[in-house]
Amino acid sequence: MSWKVLIANRGEIALRILRSCHALGYETVVCHSEADSNSLAVRLADEHLCIGPASATHSYLDKAQILRAAELTGADAIHPGYGFLSENAEFAEQVEASGFIFIGPESRHIRLMGDKHQALETAKKHGLPTVPGSEGLLGPDLIEVARCGANIGYPLLIKAASGGGGKGIKLIESAEQLIEALPLMRTEAVQCYGNTDLYLEKYLRNPRHIEVQILGDGHGGSWHFGLRDCSVQRRHQKILEEASPLNLDPKSTEKLLEQCCRFIQEIEYRGLGTLEFLYTEGAFFFIEMNTRIQVEHPITEMITGHDLVQLQLQLLKEGKLPLRQSDITMTGHALECRINAEDPQTFHPCPGTVIFYHPPGGFGVRVDSAIYQGDTISPYYDSMIAKIITHAPTRGEAIAKMRVALNECVIDGITTNIELHKTLLEHPDFIQGGYSTTILERVKEVWDKTPA
Ligand code: ADP
Repeated sequence: MSWKVLIANRGEIALRILRSCHALGYETVVCHSEADSNSLAVRLADEHLCIGPASATHSYLDKAQILRAAELTGADAIHPGYGFLSENAEFAEQVEASGFIFIGPESRHIRLMGDKHQALETAKKHGLPTVPGSEGLLGPDLIEVARCGANIGYPLLIKAASGGGGKGIKLIESAEQLIEALPLMRTEAVQCYGNTDLYLEKYLRNPRHIEVQILGDGHGGSWHFGLRDCSVQRRHQKILEEASPLNLDPKSTEKLLEQCCRFIQEIEYRGLGTLEFLYTEGAFFFIEMNTRIQVEHPITEMITGHDLVQLQLQLLKEGKLPLRQSDITMTGHALECRINAEDPQTFHPCPGTVIFYHPPGGFGVRVDSAIYQGDTISPYYDSMIAKIITHAPTRGEAIAKMRVALNECVIDGITTNIELHKTLLEHPDFIQGGYSTTILERVKEVWDKTPA
């Protein structure tokens, strides 16, 4: 029996999900805001429905409207993509309570991992290595907080338990700074996440961000799809990712993959997920788990040959997958450059109209994007407009292909970070590989000296 999937998202990920649905013979419904009426996903969907104005609060974040769209169109399942409602436990509950299938984990796991401190405690309980930090959430007693800070040692990070997307993190160098920063962080946390939950974490100097792609069947079965290196970041947000990471300690890596699979089995997790770690001096430290498809999933698909969105859909439709861990092998090296409509200097979004667009192509080059010539990049949404992915037998060849692809890519009419990516790919630290999360600061020094 076929299936009708409602895609509750926009941009490249809506199109990405639509393609996998159609390849499986499933029908698609795309619900969209007024600003996205002419989007590629809308044009290619079997059915589409406008659910509200441009503002995401009144469209892509409006749970009732999305459920109504699913009812009206007779959808079987709802795919939330990433961002928006993808990690909203209440939405997942409402979807299931309304008789639809939520293409994602059970709400209890979304809720558990949505609280980063609870996630840490759970990971620790199941034997995953975690960054040293406060044992619980910070209480109101400042003397106690200062004692906790002294125990961890400076510098440290204050983190908002419900933070995400690189936000809700503050670097603290001293006890005075800690006491001074607390009230502001609490106010920000209430405004952004609706709670004041904060915790402290040791600040690791020059770590690498390494993550593990996992899939669980919800009945104690799990698979891993290897690792990704997401250390190229601006303001704690990823802009280039690669798989597999270079120069990791093989013994610790093998142990980590086993631990991740065991963790997923023990918590009986269902669906795709990413376990994020910091890596320094040969050791991994868990920081958080994302309970959805990641932006950077294509690099894993390129090295494993598995369509992760198809697996996600099939698992939910069939309840099980005929997949063994030995069916998942890694071949070659893949890179992903996130192309953002933003000022590469300030990272401020630069919306506008694409007056000319020529995407790159060729053997081993993949472009996940929903933009087209004449398209308007709206100021209402995230500034990422395309992902360029290259895959080749070796890292050097994948980098070479990426340089060609970036040179070929033309997006006229809006400012993008393409030139910054080109500078990054030439930087000796990048070429050498195994760089830390501070690499972009060094690249920016070169970039700042480059004549415009
Ligand atoms: P978010 O949920 O906002 O993505 P994360 O906790 O995943 O936040 O951290 C995002 C990035 O912040 C990491 O990839 C890393 O670069 C930096 N970071 C987080 N925790 C630490 C830490 N304890 N020490 C050093 N850097 C950290």
